[in-house]
Amino acid sequence: VQKWDHEVDVLVVGSGAGSLVAAVTASEKSASTLIVEKGSKWGGTSATCGGGIWIPASHSAIAQGQEDSPEEAFLYIKSLTSGTVSDSKIKSYTVNARVMAKYIEGVTALRFNAIPYTDYHAELPGGKHGYRTHETNTLHASLLEKEEFDSLLPGHPSTALFGYIPWTTMEAAPMVTRGPGWVQTMIKILWRYYSDLPQRVKSKRSRFMVFGNAIAGHLKIALNHFGGTLWLNSALKELIRDDSGRVVGALVLKDGVLTAIKANKGVILGAGGFEHNQKMRDKYLPGDTRCEWSGGQLNNTGDAIQAGVAIGAATDLMEHAWWAPTVKVPSESRGRPLFYERALPGCIIVSQGGERYMNEARSYDVASKAMIDADRPDCRTTPSWLIFDATFRKKYPMGPLMPVIPDWLHSKEVRSMIKKSSSIKGLAKLTNMSSDALEKTIEKFNGYAHDGVDKDFDRGGAAYDRYYGDQNVTPNPNLAAIESGPFYAMPVYPGDIGTKGGLATDDTGRVLDQNGSQIEGLYAIGNNAASVMGPSYPGAGSTLGPAMTFGYLAALDAVSAK
Ligand code: FAD
Repeated sequence: VQKWDHEVDVLVVGSGAGSLVAAVTASEKSASTLIVEKGSKWGGTSATCGGGIWIPASHSAIAQGQEDSPEEAFLYIKSLTSGTVSDSKIKSYTVNARVMAKYIEGVTALRFNAIPYTDYHAELPGGKHGYRTHETNTLHASLLEKEEFDSLLPGHPSTALFGYIPWTTMEAAPMVTRGPGWVQTMIKILWRYYSDLPQRVKSKRSRFMVFGNAIAGHLKIALNHFGGTLWLNSALKELIRDDSGRVVGALVLKDGVLTAIKANKGVILGAGGFEHNQKMRDKYLPGDTRCEWSGGQLNNTGDAIQAGVAIGAATDLMEHAWWAPTVKVPSESRGRPLFYERALPGCIIVSQGGERYMNEARSYDVASKAMIDADRPDCRTTPSWLIFDATFRKKYPMGPLMPVIPDWLHSKEVRSMIKKSSSIKGLAKLTNMSSDALEKTIEKFNGYAHDGVDKDFDRGGAAYDRYYGDQNVTPNPNLAAIESGPFYAMPVYPGDIGTKGGLATDDTGRVLDQNGSQIEGLYAIGNNAASVMGPSYPGAGSTLGPAMTFGYLAALDAVSAK
């Protein structure tokens, strides 16, 4: 007979955005709720991320006069997922995402504001040129308990100005592309940061919480309000079932002590993907693939996927990830995703043979996957080289390299990432590329920039390409010649921001076994579950949107259990 050390109604594993939504929902419905988090810090990759949430036809979008519907979103995801995801699961997402948002706005201070951020494949049936991605409201750290803020994972460096000064999505867009008002925006951001003197004397970390940190903070405040609890340093080890096969609890290693937790109504697994488990990457993911290229949070080692498999759960989409080209600052533990830099005019990505092989401005999942697919023993694209010139360097960011700030003011680690030469020939030598090939590639590209048409890969042809183009650059905002030395090269890897294969689930997040039957009492959400987006990435926020929506649905289902 199982002896229990602790008892709750709903046990949630992991503290990402989906888990927090699940825990808030369960506790608001009066179920006693506990989150167990493996790390000494909470929030997961979610807390460190850009905070975009993809929700079709939200009340915010409709209030702003946008025409959209769950049906159009269904059509869009259906065409992107090519039969890899059931219609009913897609429908469940497209119908319930906005229901989740409305509910969360009703019981927390979190707000979902639709922004004019174009879908990544807006040209497809059902695609939209904006208002499905949502930015949430900011939060001041003083509204959290001090230890709660201190133990929340800080934002990823790639989501902040200079790697640590927070900005919102709507502030970042003009800054990155030098759009109207960018200087005023810059002054506003810097003033906000440096004028917080009490915090500046204490820490580099800002108390102005944005993106994933704001989402986590708002949800945690609500969780506290409804009486839910979060344990740090508590890793799921095993799921426990009763004689009928129903999951009734879990073994959790809490501060080094194995603790049996009874869950009367259900266990919701939200422990992320397996991006930091090299063995699982080697087994499931295509191509040359490494943990250190991932932008995902370090504790995501696929534990809860394995715990599910150990009790007979099925898996799906294990060969897929939320791909993103990344660069690696040697002193940082996670890769830095290049979300937008590749689209800016005057940079290209070339293989180790010195040739372009893709439209660099496509969405990050398409670009990183292209790097994997193009990799051949005789012409490696893993890593590839990002090439840009002094004009680009002066105007735009590239990973950790910031415009205006001279090279010598960047850290030693950042400087160690770049190769620099006054000539293309010299750059080719430093990067072991054929100078003939590189010169030819750049000459051709410069011709395309002059004409405004990329005859090889149509860079600038799609709405999403142009979203991060520089509107001051004509005739094509994504193309500018690479012609003024010094010339730069930086290695870029086919990284990811998390994996997206996991436990097979149904329309409410219930985990399925090998026969497609529900495993009673067990749910999986976020990157712990096979994604409703299949192999695709419809738009910014495609990972958080489903994590939060299925977190909500799973919690509702669990609390309704007798
Ligand atoms: P996580 O948020 O990582 O949470 C999983 C948690 O489970 C972690 O805290 C982990 O420590 C814990 N855990 C792991 N194992 C165990 C265990 N055995 N027991 C207990 N706990 C465990 N996506 C978007 O939708 N919009 C964006 O704007 C966006 N921007 C991004 C920017 C960056 C720089 C990066 C890196 C990613 C971004 N993403 C974005 C991707 C997104 O952050 C992730 O896909 C998402 O957060 C995954 O959520 P999750 O809940 O599955 O996992």
